[in-house]
Amino acid sequence: MADYQLFIGGAYVDALAGETFETNDPATGQKIGDVAKAGREDAQRAIEAARKAFDEGPWPKLSGKERGAKLNQIADLLDAKAEKFAEAEARDGGGTIKKATFADVPGASSAFRWFARMAEEQPDEVEVPGSPFPPSQNWVRYEPFGVTTGIIPWNFPLIMASWKLAPALAAGNCSVIKPASLTSITALMLGEVFQEADLPPGVANVIAGPGGTVGEELASNPLVDKTAFTGSTEVGRRIMQLASGTVKPVTLELGGKSANIVLDDADLDIAAACVLFGTFFHNGQVCESGTRALVHQSVYDEFVSLLVDRAGKMVIGNQMDFATDLGPLVSRSQVETVERYVALGRDEVGEPICGGNRPEGLADGLDPNAFYNPTIFSGVDNKAKIAQEEIFGPVLCVIPFADDDEAVAIANDSIYGLGGGVQSGNLDRARAIAARMRTGTVWINDYHLISPERPFGGYKQSGIGRELGVAGFNAYRQAKHVHANPGGSRDNYMHLAALSSNI
Ligand code: NAP
Ligand code: MG
Repeated sequence: MADYQLFIGGAYVDALAGETFETNDPATGQKIGDVAKAGREDAQRAIEAARKAFDEGPWPKLSGKERGAKLNQIADLLDAKAEKFAEAEARDGGGTIKKATFADVPGASSAFRWFARMAEEQPDEVEVPGSPFPPSQNWVRYEPFGVTTGIIPWNFPLIMASWKLAPALAAGNCSVIKPASLTSITALMLGEVFQEADLPPGVANVIAGPGGTVGEELASNPLVDKTAFTGSTEVGRRIMQLASGTVKPVTLELGGKSANIVLDDADLDIAAACVLFGTFFHNGQVCESGTRALVHQSVYDEFVSLLVDRAGKMVIGNQMDFATDLGPLVSRSQVETVERYVALGRDEVGEPICGGNRPEGLADGLDPNAFYNPTIFSGVDNKAKIAQEEIFGPVLCVIPFADDDEAVAIANDSIYGLGGGVQSGNLDRARAIAARMRTGTVWINDYHLISPERPFGGYKQSGIGRELGVAGFNAYRQAKHVHANPGGSRDNYMHLAALSSNI
């Protein structure tokens, strides 16, 4: 029996083929446990369980209030188990215990609470008055798609699981999700919560396994009505192709290379903190990270020296220690990717002004090959590959600009458009710039603050559709128009008189 089993049809089960894979703490390389490794056949039985729960089970027939109550119960249970989930999240993925405690677990439970509220408050049937075809009446019904699937990345497994499951379930769908292979355990642990909340079997299923087989099945299986994916733009393109076979709607949350603009009227001290947090939070392994800092030329030198000074104060080490700012990256291969980009940056730009190497002097037991120092390149040309391609590591490009128009032009010169920032002492000026940025979220004098009440998603190649907010709820429902003619006299049938008078 695997330490972490698949959650299918309300029960924990091993993979049909009995296969497992190891999951590790990236800081030490130590094994955490064996995870059941689903194959295509496990994905199929999870989809069938969701299909049965939708077609025959109580879930889609419950009222929004009843579904909302269940989702609130799930949120409460998650909060009650916060420590256990936070521990597992930090250990498995290498994110800090600070992040897991203050962002991941509350981020997941608040998503369940928000979508509970959506289920309770959003009507599922609305009359549209004033029919142009009297005396008919018209209603729009909002109905779940049926079976939805979700494929999620390794950087925020719990939050990403909640963003896929909570809106799907709130709207009355039944769902199957697949966490990333590097960080599967907390999503699988959600099964315990679903069992304790007495969620009907098959409503929420969680399976771990390789993207190339399990993920492809979730995106292509004809029994699936809608699929949602968060991850790289490259795999997002593949998901669209797979979903096109049965014309499934897709929601995609993909990569980013977001610009954080520092105006000449900003409080430079605070702006430096916002830029560093915007870039190095979770080692830059965040899709909306502000990895391009665009800095007004009149404050450029002062600002860059503030960045270097502060970056040097970040504490690197064991992610399980509350004092740590930067833990290990998710894997050694992610460190190697960062190193390839830093080598490219040395060719394109020159020596980084800080970092550019692995840290030394880490505590005993920590694997230095899993860590990387926060790295800053200054004077970067926005056309450089390190300014255009997503690195997904602790690397910041600082780019000077002369005026607001140039800042906007540089910010928008990207295939991506997910996040972004404007640091300024003048809110009107900052809002005018925010309005011109072609990106899904802009933080003024802040960064990374996402809440389930507000929509999140990408422009351009950063994705399609929105998660969270009211839009994120409606992304899991479709509209049906019902036109009802009361019948009776032939005069009530306008089309008979006008369009088909000979019938
Ligand atoms: P990834 O390689 O695209 O993987 C994401 C998920 O897709 C994983 O569960 C993966 O499974 C699965 N997958 C891989 N190949 C697949 C295929 N052919 N068919 C179906 N599923 C497949 O991305 P990642 O390395 O986990 O995450 C990093 C990327 O995600 C970055 O580019 C980042 O910008 C993006 N991201 C975006 C957001 C957002 O909200 N926009 C949030 C977080 C991350 P395996 O783990 O088994 O390979
Ligand atoms: Mg791990």
